[in-house]
Amino acid sequence: MPKVFLKTYGCQMNERDSEQVARDLAARGYEITQNEKQADVVLINTCSVRDLAEQKALGKMGMLGRLRARKPEMVFGFLGCMAQSRGGELVRDIGHVDLVVGTQKFHKVADYVDHLYKRRVELGDRMMDDERLSIVDVEEEPGSQETIREHTLKDRQATAFVSIMQGCNMHCTFCIVPSTRGSERSRSIASIVEEVRGLVDKGVREVTLLGQIVNLYGRHEFEKADGKSPFVQLLEAVHEVEGLRRLRFTSPHPIGFRDDLIDCYARLPKLMAHVHLPLQSGSDRILKAMHRTYTTAKYEALVEKIRNVRPDIAVTTDVIVGFPGETEEDYASTRALMQRVRFDNAFIFRYSQRRDTPAAELGGQLSEEVKDERNQDLLEVVNQIALEKNEELVGRRVEILCEGLSKSNAERLMGRTPGNKIVIFEGGDRHIGEVFDVQIERTTGFSLYGNPAVL
Ligand code: SF4
Repeated sequence: MPKVFLKTYGCQMNERDSEQVARDLAARGYEITQNEKQADVVLINTCSVRDLAEQKALGKMGMLGRLRARKPEMVFGFLGCMAQSRGGELVRDIGHVDLVVGTQKFHKVADYVDHLYKRRVELGDRMMDDERLSIVDVEEEPGSQETIREHTLKDRQATAFVSIMQGCNMHCTFCIVPSTRGSERSRSIASIVEEVRGLVDKGVREVTLLGQIVNLYGRHEFEKADGKSPFVQLLEAVHEVEGLRRLRFTSPHPIGFRDDLIDCYARLPKLMAHVHLPLQSGSDRILKAMHRTYTTAKYEALVEKIRNVRPDIAVTTDVIVGFPGETEEDYASTRALMQRVRFDNAFIFRYSQRRDTPAAELGGQLSEEVKDERNQDLLEVVNQIALEKNEELVGRRVEILCEGLSKSNAERLMGRTPGNKIVIFEGGDRHIGEVFDVQIERTTGFSLYGNPAVL
């Protein structure tokens, strides 16, 4: 059985796509290996959100190319966002790359790998040095969003991601996603509910609905019903799945939060008390240059509205520092907003110039030093607030879903609060996959440590 080494860079959407590819290859008689040295096929699923992510994938492929010297029949391929944006250039510039598959063709990967691998084995020594067997497919394919729906669950897996749509029609000037993932295409509510039911039947207790702009799900395909958006209709339908205990979604856009969605935090008990709400900047001037379509006042009013409906909600965000033209004043506005809103956590990114994005052409590009300085400074602000917020939980009972062994300490188990905070505790097999209360005893900043109250 030929072995496939599949390396994934980037977001949860990429992880989901890779899971589907691995499943399709296994169904074709290939074995997934974690050991690249055993591989007959090397596939790298790529991310283009920052230059660093692309460099990592290119570096890894360069390093792995040496394996072909021992196994001439090996196949090497790039998948995902960088494959979509660079296409045939990757085959032209990297001598050992045979396969490039874009973001709307993951369901074709197993076919293409099988064809190339069998052909290379067949040709063996008859393969001429200058002969190139390669496939490049970065075409669009309507309906491809429905092809990412099967899972390879681990033993007693309690949580799973469900991809509900692909693409984004927004035009944030720093973002490459619309050009790599294409326009918004949503799956049907029926096929998503069926997938969730299948997961719950296999023991999953929590699902996270995934999309680049998840709360605008179905805006081009489905009608509003009783004043509710297609996304709210979807949340309600998934919420009704018997046996499902918890429901989450990521990543939304502030403009997609209308009253019908905000009300869900009061009406749907399985919807967890956490919202990830990307801010990107606390300066209205920069938000305008980013084409984010909201102001800081609107953003803060939205957070307040959500907190009024669900006072225990955890709010997290994404912020970019060092956007072209960002002055000290702009940065100070971002810092001040972070202190006012007091996020439970935040992902801070240094602006990275992306090809074919409007912001890459802007004047006022900042040095890496300035970006790094603001990054470090804002991280300190975020970490301090996160610590204070977690300290408020010490001494209290919080409900968690136990997901299994802690990644940082195999002697301990871990679970997440409704606010998506990690709790580490001493427990046993009987806890895995269960929802129960834990008494929080201490915190180190981002992790909470507790003791199961009962069970
Ligand atoms: S909404 Fe998100 S994915 Fe879409 S363009 Fe903006 S940053 Fe990119």
